[in-house]
Amino acid sequence: MRIGIAGLGTVGSCVYAILSDKGDEIEKRSGRRCVVSKVITRTHSKYEKLGIPSDLIAEDFEDLIINSDIVVETIGGTEAARTLIKQSLELNRTVVTANKMLISEFGNEFTGSSPIKSLFFEAAVGGGIPIISLLEDYLIFHGIRRVRGILNGTTNFILSQMLTGIDYSEALEIAQKKGYAEADPSSDVKGYDAAYKLSVLMGVKTGVFPGISNIDTMGIEEINKRDLERAASSDKKVKLIGTIDFEKGSAFVKPQEIERNDPLWSVDGVENAIEVETDLSGRFILRGEGAGAKPTATAIISDILRASRYAEKQSNSVVIMKFGGTSVDSAEKIKDVAKRVQRKVMSGVKPVIVVSAMGVETDTLHGLAQEVSSKPNVREMDMLLATGEQKSIALVAMAIQELGMKSISLSGNQARIQTDSNFSNARIVGIDADLINRYLSNGYVPVVAGFQGSTYTGEITTLGRGGSDLTAVVLAKALGSQLCEIYKDVDGVYSADPRIVRKARPIKEISWEEMIELSKQGAQVLQSRASEFARKYDIKVLVKNAHSKARGTLIWRGSKVEQPIVRAVTSDDEIVKVVLQEVPDRPGIAARVLKTLAEQNVNIDMIIQSMRSGEFNTMAFTIHGSDLSKLKQDILKTRSEAKEITVESSIAKISIVGVNLTATPAIAATLFETLANEGINIDMISASNSRISVVIDSKMADLAVNAIHSAFSLEETV
Ligand code: ADP
Ligand code: ASP
Ligand code: MG
Repeated sequence: MRIGIAGLGTVGSCVYAILSDKGDEIEKRSGRRCVVSKVITRTHSKYEKLGIPSDLIAEDFEDLIINSDIVVETIGGTEAARTLIKQSLELNRTVVTANKMLISEFGNEFTGSSPIKSLFFEAAVGGGIPIISLLEDYLIFHGIRRVRGILNGTTNFILSQMLTGIDYSEALEIAQKKGYAEADPSSDVKGYDAAYKLSVLMGVKTGVFPGISNIDTMGIEEINKRDLERAASSDKKVKLIGTIDFEKGSAFVKPQEIERNDPLWSVDGVENAIEVETDLSGRFILRGEGAGAKPTATAIISDILRASRYAEKQSNSVVIMKFGGTSVDSAEKIKDVAKRVQRKVMSGVKPVIVVSAMGVETDTLHGLAQEVSSKPNVREMDMLLATGEQKSIALVAMAIQELGMKSISLSGNQARIQTDSNFSNARIVGIDADLINRYLSNGYVPVVAGFQGSTYTGEITTLGRGGSDLTAVVLAKALGSQLCEIYKDVDGVYSADPRIVRKARPIKEISWEEMIELSKQGAQVLQSRASEFARKYDIKVLVKNAHSKARGTLIWRGSKVEQPIVRAVTSDDEIVKVVLQEVPDRPGIAARVLKTLAEQNVNIDMIIQSMRSGEFNTMAFTIHGSDLSKLKQDILKTRSEAKEITVESSIAKISIVGVNLTATPAIAATLFETLANEGINIDMISASNSRISVVIDSKMADLAVNAIHSAFSLEETV
């Protein structure tokens, strides 16, 4: 299990120290390996003070969450902590927190979404006293009648001090000097701290956290030494007691006089004690240190162990790691990949590897086919292309075995990836994950060939260019893994192709919709079918560099934003423009043109009809270059009654992609102005909320992309 720790105050650093020092012992006793994978804190000097290695320092919450299976929140407060916990749960992480205020007041926001328990907060109540796991596990089938106790060490210490005959203010001062009370003691002395704890306990039992506004609360500020003397004269003590009466559904915190035979009588000083009354096992009492770094950290560690049991079931620990051709194009890089896989295995994760063919192997095989045949047979083509991935999976498996791990390579067919028989662009119709799961549970690292599958008759098929990405996300879904890591030769998804724009920057997070647009508009990075599948099944994708430690780009539902944002600029010069000259200006012609294209399986992107002159129009549309051979121009000419059809291929489509781009015309204006300033003429325009595209002369494409990148200051975006 990878543990991410947010906050390195006294509790957080104690958790870090215990996991670092006693990791092996914890593993020996619990059978679970827990390693700290990332930490984050506001005070940066802490990193050095605690000797934290630089690669453990997270850049931000997302970086921490993505690289952890269990997120430990010890930041405190309700703002940042609330965001962290929400995001962690959304990304299917398990969360352990000590934050009573947050759970008491906002706990209802966090529960309910996941069928599996994913939020643990033993440390929020009673420090070293394991009251929550007791209620949740041991007493689960008992009817709990009442919980009552001394839940706040500070007030209990003050009241105990006052027994020596001093007044409240004097006792508070001593508590502050000893570090038992804070400079601003209100939360403790007004009884709120105890009330938060009651609210948490009620939530544990009833599933709803009432919050302290629903708990009658009275503190100890009004108590003076005469009250204590009066109580003592009738052999009683005053204690601040929190009570939940589950039968009546009531909860309150108030100072109460208790008698000598009360089990809470002897609980003095900073100690806490909780009495539980159940229907089956009667009454019993738990007593111990209620606060302090070590007891709290211990409660967190035991939550981590409890959580790891659930997290394992949730198969959070299966992670897909897909390596693209650029990441495995030499023996050295393959060995590097194996080392990365080894690090993953060491951190307690079960990786399933997906690989593409080495380097430009697929292009080379295509070229070979063209040399021997002018129109290669599609079945044979897939048979040929599939060898590329078959070669790389065997090499990767060998490299992993060389490092002493068990690994096995599986072709698409062996991995039971079933497809339809649409050779060269097959659709996955099902995956039988049993075999891979069996290898996983026997400690193997399966290495699956990307980009290929087989039909039910055993024919080998391929999934379209860039199809290994699709294999990876589909496997993530089939294996119940929520995260799919795609490794490349670049640090993530950039604001522009880094080969064209030197100043392009990796984007930290992006929504599936934006990524789909980016892929469709020419950014290779991730196959658009893969992004579409990931969006449909809520698979989070992390695009990372296979050979560096950069954090990468998270592709997920994205953070909801209202204001327009331009994220990236792309160019696509593989489009061609087909112009139908002098088409009769009559209803029905456009429909006929589109019908003809549909029959010929040619997809069009932009379309314009213009320059009406007399009874004729000119109609133009763009298609992908690879569709040109499918276009039967003579048929189209006859059906459209065009005088002539011309094809222009020296064009490029430049697109800006982002959120709410058409919310204001200012964005389009900046785009057009930038091109005008560079003397670039716009031939066609199309816009949607997430994209604005223009067609220009392909010779100007790189210039345009660079100018647009600067105009929208994309080098500054993070
Ligand atoms: P892989 O072999 O890993 O599948 P690809 O060749 O498909 O890799 O895609 C990676 C390449 O995509 C990078 O080397 C990069 O030059 C190019 N690329 C184009 N646009 C972008 C972009 N917006 N962000 C990142 N990389 C991009
Ligand atoms: N090797 C295949 C291709 O080059 C699949 C992939 O890389 O994803 O398209
Ligand atoms: Mg690719």
